[in-house]
Amino acid sequence: MSKPIDPAEFAADGPLYAARKKVYPQSVSGTFRNIKWALMAVCLGIYYLLPFVRWDRGPQAPNQAVLVDFPNSRFYFFFIELWPQEVYYFTGLLIVAAMALFLMNAIGGRIWCGYLCPQTVWTDLFYAVERWIEGDRRERIRKDKGRLSLRRAGEVTAKHSIWLLIAWWTGGAWVLYFADAPTLVWQLATFQAPFVAYLWIGILTFTTYTLAGFMREQVCTYMCPWPRIQAALTDEWALNVTYRYDRGEPRTSVKKAEELRAQNLPAGDCVDCNQCVAVCPTGIDIRNGAQLECIMCGLCIDACDNVMTKVGRPTGLIAYDTDINIKRRLEGKTNVFRLVRPRTIIYSAIILLVGAIMLYTLATRSFLDISVLHDRNPLAVRLSDGSVRNAYTVRFLNKQSHYRTVALDVLGLPDAKVQVVGSDAAVEGRPYIVIGPDQTTEMRVLVTVPATAKLDKSTDIEFRISDTDVRETASARDHFILP
Ligand code: SF4
Ligand code: SF4
Repeated sequence: MSKPIDPAEFAADGPLYAARKKVYPQSVSGTFRNIKWALMAVCLGIYYLLPFVRWDRGPQAPNQAVLVDFPNSRFYFFFIELWPQEVYYFTGLLIVAAMALFLMNAIGGRIWCGYLCPQTVWTDLFYAVERWIEGDRRERIRKDKGRLSLRRAGEVTAKHSIWLLIAWWTGGAWVLYFADAPTLVWQLATFQAPFVAYLWIGILTFTTYTLAGFMREQVCTYMCPWPRIQAALTDEWALNVTYRYDRGEPRTSVKKAEELRAQNLPAGDCVDCNQCVAVCPTGIDIRNGAQLECIMCGLCIDACDNVMTKVGRPTGLIAYDTDINIKRRLEGKTNVFRLVRPRTIIYSAIILLVGAIMLYTLATRSFLDISVLHDRNPLAVRLSDGSVRNAYTVRFLNKQSHYRTVALDVLGLPDAKVQVVGSDAAVEGRPYIVIGPDQTTEMRVLVTVPATAKLDKSTDIEFRISDTDVRETASARDHFILP
């Protein structure tokens, strides 16, 4: 029989709820901080400015480089235009994105979280504003504990005003991806934009302000599923921000360490200055080992490198490393890094394969299409002269940005007469249809076979359209039914 659970054992583990401790990250300079600044500038620059980039697609099509055109059911991305029936490209894109995330994880742990995740980028921006107005870590702690003066109230108001401005701009940029950006900006400014645009700006202003201004590291720790998934996907060879305890311990003060070394006694390089904790945006101590809260931003590496430089010790006490290497060094062996291993090869191969398939299908896709729907009631009609007629609803699709004239043929029925209702254009009994630029045209087509035709009850037929100017064809299959 299993041992009964002792509630006291649970109580000893501490409460399940922990109140939030506000984090006051200190500013830091160094390689990883510079990488983060650069990536922040690139990501925000792309997000805010991309809707204003123009792309000439001819007079009949929108000239916005990236546009989600819901009213006309189109998605434009520079030279690519996707129709609703081509949404499978998004499936490919999602597969590539997921594999890229897995690959990043296999190489450098949570580098997505630390450098590119929107929550990190915007929180970093909000921290920069906070630091600019209220000062660095110590000053902010002191001000938060102090009394509310007029000056302090002014600072708080200025900070929240700038945060709201950034949040509003973030929401504003989002809606510009769904309409012509310059036109929508003018409509928004003159209060003539559709209500849904203001609604989305409001929603995104609120979420950005709340998530980046207040919830911050809590989003990564409690709300985001990726740290849990990532932990299950990682392996012992992935590079993670690691405190090299083989070098750092036993930690002690600079003076004590010098004394110990002078006596040939062991002294670690960690001078217990807590700078790595002070700069951490999630408020953790990396010296306690791998933790779910760590977003692998590398700022503690910069902080520690600065300290090591000051005390005259080699940098890299905290670095992107693996526990395997720590164990190897303790055994007197050299470091081993395995970036190329089965999982990185598999993820890269899937990215390349799906990417290549998408590129190939995009490059070779047809700009002409046809779909056919047989009339259900009646399926077939026998005419007074004994001939049999079937009717179809045919949809013609022209993905080019100019008018196209196509000839329609019905294959598989000898001596059949093809008639397009409402169009007399035909050459030697072959109907011609004009399709507008970037449009679909739906028409009823009547197919009639003479009484003398020897056909089965149901005959496979093919509707084929041909644009003879560019030698492009498209076809769809259906049946011809006898009464
Ligand atoms: S910054 Fe470096 S030296 Fe200072 S406490 Fe952290 S690990 Fe130790
Ligand atoms: S422990 Fe270091 S790498 Fe992890 S979140 Fe904190 S500063 Fe970033």
